[in-house]
Amino acid sequence: MKTRLILLLTSTAILSAQTTPVERQAASEILKKIDALQEKIGPTEQAKAMASGKDRDRDRILKRVETLWDKQLRDLSDHIGRNPEVGFKEFASVDTLTKVLRQYGFSVTTGQAGLETAFVGEWKSPAKGKGVTVGLFAEYDALRGTKEPFHGCQHNGQSPAAYASAVALAEFMEKKKIPGTIKIFGTPAEEMGPPAKVIMFDAGVFDGTDLIVRSHGTGETTRNKPGFGVCCLNINEVKYIFEGRPAHQRSSWNGRNALTAAVQFYTSVDHLRPTFRPEAVIQGVIPEGGVAPNVVPDRAVVDYYIRYPDEVYLAHMDTMIANAAHAAALATGTKVTIDRYGEYRDGITVGSLEELSFAYAEKLDAPEINPEPQRPAGYEETGFVTRDIPGVSVSVFSSSAPGHSYERWLDSMKDVGHTGFLLDAKIMAAILYHYVTDGDFRKTVHTEHETMAKLFNDYLDALNEAYKDEIGGSLK
Ligand SMILES: [Zn+2]
Repeated sequence: MKTRLILLLTSTAILSAQTTPVERQAASEILKKIDALQEKIGPTEQAKAMASGKDRDRDRILKRVETLWDKQLRDLSDHIGRNPEVGFKEFASVDTLTKVLRQYGFSVTTGQAGLETAFVGEWKSPAKGKGVTVGLFAEYDALRGTKEPFHGCQHNGQSPAAYASAVALAEFMEKKKIPGTIKIFGTPAEEMGPPAKVIMFDAGVFDGTDLIVRSHGTGETTRNKPGFGVCCLNINEVKYIFEGRPAHQRSSWNGRNALTAAVQFYTSVDHLRPTFRPEAVIQGVIPEGGVAPNVVPDRAVVDYYIRYPDEVYLAHMDTMIANAAHAAALATGTKVTIDRYGEYRDGITVGSLEELSFAYAEKLDAPEINPEPQRPAGYEETGFVTRDIPGVSVSVFSSSAPGHSYERWLDSMKDVGHTGFLLDAKIMAAILYHYVTDGDFRKTVHTEHETMAKLFNDYLDALNEAYKDEIGGSLK
């Protein structure tokens, strides 16, 4: 027992999402509260009991998921896999996916939040009463390759897996006269900014959804620790657009050079780097800088990804960099517009959902199980949706090839991918089944999520306090 406790404590330290000393200090009291909350819920034991119990309804749903997959949806996954389209241009994929979803009795609308390749499929139970609304994320964008797009992130399997779960659950709810709504959220362009899920979230597309599940191809079967964090740092995607006045270079005094402003700004950012904490990551390009050498450029654009492990320090970096942009504009007689076109933040991971997902992965003999819980990362890449709506991302091994590789793409259309996606579908269906039919479980999930969201706000307050003396732009 003692050894286990020590192991547990070590793993908490290693796998905590808090990576800097400031973060760890700010989070120390809050992590204790998260641990106390988890102890109260006992999500692992709860999940094991739920997954191992005899349940004929659930087993029928899982069987139905398999039939739907074998009959049509595995082929649909391969079809999307053979016809990759990059983010925001997934027109043929969306055409096919929405056609199939309509065949299953879902009403489908497209173009949500001004995104042409977004869609929402909705099924309402004929049973009287409101019931709950559950959502499933479906992605379908491919990666940009050096020659052509390819599904190196296996998004081709996601929509078909979500469909199998949703349809099996809908049939069950109809038969048992359970009220409620099932929504499929077709979310474009996971792989590129601006983050579509944030745009859809801000437009209210997910409003009224009680729970969201999704799946994603992966190199091992895992679940995450409860808490808050993100996979790849908090990010601000920002464009600095400099506008000057064009003129012939032989009479350049008539112009105002936007490229000069951009270069000055770019250099200023390099000068800022040592004033930022070492965990800061700033990556930039100048994608626009004029059209001809003999014309004073009247437009130049600098595009930066500004990253930091926590969002409070990130906001400070963002302010300093914006000041540098204004300074460059002032120095060159140009104008700058700042377009913060994308944001990614820490998300909330809910233990009772993660553990249920994992308990089913074990029960269904998923391959390549890693027993060690991974760091919290929310269930979607932007973080924002997870702060508002509880949910879980199901990750079952679907390829041993590296992420974003051609080999992983090919695996998505082989047994290894098919097996992983079908298990994803079954696990999502099982989670949704419990959520829809078990009021106590629903209560546990929501209480945990709400408590976690409050603790997250406390964490941000603690970070603000910790950085108080250090940040604040310039000297007064
Ligand atoms: Zn992906």
